[in-house]
Amino acid sequence: MHFKVSEIVNALHAPAVAKKFADREVTGVTFDSRQIDPGMLFVPLMGERDGHEFVPAAIAAGAAATFWQADHTENVPADFPVIQVADPLTAMWELAAHYLHKINPKVVAVTGSNGKTTTKDMIATILATQYNVAKTYANYNNEIGLPYTILNAPTNTEVLVLEMGMDRPGQIAHMTKLAQPDVAVITMIGEAHIEFFGTRDKIADAKMEIVQGLSADGTFIFNGDEPLLQERAKAVPQNKKTFGDTTANDIYPISVQADAQQTQFVTNKWADVTFTIPMMGEYNIFNALAAIQVARQFHVLPEKIAQALRKFVPTANRAQWIRGDDGEQILSDVYNSNPTAVKDVLRSFVQVPTDGQRIIVLGDMLELGDHSAALHAGLAAAIDPAEIQQVFLYGEDIKALAEALQPKYSAGTLHYYPVGEQDTLLHDLQAVIHNPDLVLIKGSHGMHLENVLAKL
Ligand code: ATP
Ligand code: MG
Repeated sequence: MHFKVSEIVNALHAPAVAKKFADREVTGVTFDSRQIDPGMLFVPLMGERDGHEFVPAAIAAGAAATFWQADHTENVPADFPVIQVADPLTAMWELAAHYLHKINPKVVAVTGSNGKTTTKDMIATILATQYNVAKTYANYNNEIGLPYTILNAPTNTEVLVLEMGMDRPGQIAHMTKLAQPDVAVITMIGEAHIEFFGTRDKIADAKMEIVQGLSADGTFIFNGDEPLLQERAKAVPQNKKTFGDTTANDIYPISVQADAQQTQFVTNKWADVTFTIPMMGEYNIFNALAAIQVARQFHVLPEKIAQALRKFVPTANRAQWIRGDDGEQILSDVYNSNPTAVKDVLRSFVQVPTDGQRIIVLGDMLELGDHSAALHAGLAAAIDPAEIQQVFLYGEDIKALAEALQPKYSAGTLHYYPVGEQDTLLHDLQAVIHNPDLVLIKGSHGMHLENVLAKL
């Protein structure tokens, strides 16, 4: 962003600051004093600690101005542009709305249970071949990340690609009304946050909120194989484009080739264009198809889309191949986990050829609520001793999976560890792994399987 202090004050109807500060330039925003670059606006937020405690550090680091919650009457910095607001987060939203209006980029909003970040990054990569693109940084997809992303977009941004996450109804509605997207994408409906929502229907309702802010001549892009979305999309008057696996969709793959390094596919649209993504996981085809549909709205030619996807760099920490100390290949995704994601990654994992054994290390999938045990046990159908020779399970609810696998696996090949026994798991795991084995490690972040990964 680029504002004078006085413009911010005016936009927010805040009390005036001293005249000598009115013309001071503000060129970015952060809520983390360690991230302050000279010229930035600091936004003190309420977290575990009161962000106002960090205002002096932000000033020392070169902040140009700071928000200040008006009911905090103590320790107000003297001789500094302090912009008094009722609530810093709300003020950040208001300023974001003002800035968005000022730079007026095209906006693409992406939500869905899985694949948001991947799809967002693919869209940005493709559109960047033709436009000035800004996008949600990493996974900053919540009510703080959204205004943060908007305010840090350069003034010449032509397309802004925003990831929108949620764990409660109403959050996506709030975000989409701020962003007013020209293109809204729902990647898929899964089971993430079912603990709170209870049913996939309710998750679909919450994701569908994204169309509430969609501009009248905008386009809604969604997975047409999902009946919950199909049904709800009927009530959406805007243009609609679907992607998916079946021929009922506007775009679908007609041939697929996948190996450990990359996934290739041809679509029904252009028989002579092969799309290659440098990632494994067939689900990434659907993320790419969503991105292709977006790119078509921006008139990017298929050859150019293919070129951009070939060079796509996935965000770190998601399903990634890593070499272990012994040379074994480890596919790790210790960042998040849910039943759909585990089944998808297993499907890809068992297709990777190996002369060694395939070993999986699974941690609890968290936040699955009442259905948790059943959803864990339900993974048993996707785990077959002919394809996966060793199974290590770690956590509480995943015990249900250990029980469900007992008829198929013997004691020496099925290992279960309750929380707290990660060291034993690691010890036993190291005893069975040999190059050229393939290892899959996946669990919710709260299970901290990154510790196991680090020691391999
Ligand atoms: P978060 O809610 O953490 O922001 P996200 O929706 O941004 O997640 P990604 O970061 O793109 O999702 O992918 C996270 C994991 O979800 C991947 O590593 C993979 O296991 C799984 N995944 C990604 N895309 C899909 C998809 N289209 N369908 C099913 N699972 C997917
Ligand atoms: Mg994400």
